[in-house]
Amino acid sequence: MKKTIPYGRQSIDESDIQAVVDVLKSDWLTTGPAVEAFENAVGDFVGAKEAVAVSSGTAALHAAMYAIGIGPGDEVIVPPMTFAATANAVVFQQGKPVFSDVDSNSLLIDPALIEKKITPQTKAIIAVDYAGQPCDYDLLRKIADHYNLTLVADACHSLGAEYKGRRAGTLADLNIFSFHPVKHITTGEGGMVTTDNHEFAKRMRIFRNHCIDVDHMQRAEKGTWFYEMVDLGYNYRITDFQCALGVSQLKKLPAWIKRRQEIALRYDLELSKFPAVMPLSVATHVCHAYHLYVIRLQTHRSELFAAFRNAGINVNIHYIPVHLHPYYRKHFKTSKGLCPNAERAYNEIISLPMFPGMQDEDIMHVVSTLQHEIRKLFA
Ligand SMILES: *Cc1c(COP(=O)(O)O)cnc(C)c1O
Repeated sequence: MKKTIPYGRQSIDESDIQAVVDVLKSDWLTTGPAVEAFENAVGDFVGAKEAVAVSSGTAALHAAMYAIGIGPGDEVIVPPMTFAATANAVVFQQGKPVFSDVDSNSLLIDPALIEKKITPQTKAIIAVDYAGQPCDYDLLRKIADHYNLTLVADACHSLGAEYKGRRAGTLADLNIFSFHPVKHITTGEGGMVTTDNHEFAKRMRIFRNHCIDVDHMQRAEKGTWFYEMVDLGYNYRITDFQCALGVSQLKKLPAWIKRRQEIALRYDLELSKFPAVMPLSVATHVCHAYHLYVIRLQTHRSELFAAFRNAGINVNIHYIPVHLHPYYRKHFKTSKGLCPNAERAYNEIISLPMFPGMQDEDIMHVVSTLQHEIRKLFA
């Protein structure tokens, strides 16, 4: 079988495997010491006071919406150029996601367009660090403060990124990470919220455990069986063996970010020779974590996509604008024309392979396929 290159892939080594095995041989399989160790490791890495680990990035988004008290009738501003879970988390709490368009060059939420979407019902903004580039958080903070909104960062693409010297994970009131295998570090499935707000953290810690006021470790310590469910929560717990994997993975993150940036530089260099194909814009004050490397072409996108796939290169499209999904069209009456910048971009983008385990020969194969096809298509 011909080798195919995925667009993203995890890197697992012997030390990761050993870390998981060690937990499997220990007393706690879930909600034990490894969960806290992973929370502390991520909190320390990004520079946040609190970190709450949960079972997925989606659960982390939901926990954040619960923590800030989103409920029926509340509106939350979200960009359309994201994974559906960003908006879904608002709906889980019976809120209404209000789509605000992205900037055409960066595909990040455009702060200049947000104010028009704010109503008396607006409670929060969820900014998405699309592809791994942090949004303009100074501007977003100004808007959030002026209208008394909570600022949330969906930082699922940007673990390890920086904005004006500050790390993703500290840029908003609540910051969301995912540890799905295509993300920067993995726990299989997993997620985390980082925040400096102790009250939010407390709410999320009980939310992930059915909103039961004490967990099993606390009950064991107190020698009591008594607990009360104080609100409606979920089982969003992450296991100890997943968190052990997370701790082991996090140690390698800086080297992996460097490798992603190297690959991006190689792609940048290649694209500079072909004006018909553009990379996304990158602000000068950010350190980009390159979860994705997205190229953009006004014509021939589907031909180029097919050529890559034929060459065994599993390029992808990120994303179908969320407001165009049938669910949102049906239940929130969204339609084409609502976010023209995202809609136009959706027809023009391709995500090239980008993961730290990519070999130089893989990069060469992507680059030479790109060269060959561009010359053919734009001859
Ligand atoms: C991956 C991702 C999520 C969801 O994370 P899961 O861990 O898969 O639930 C949410 N938002 C964005 C932008 C993502 O990339």
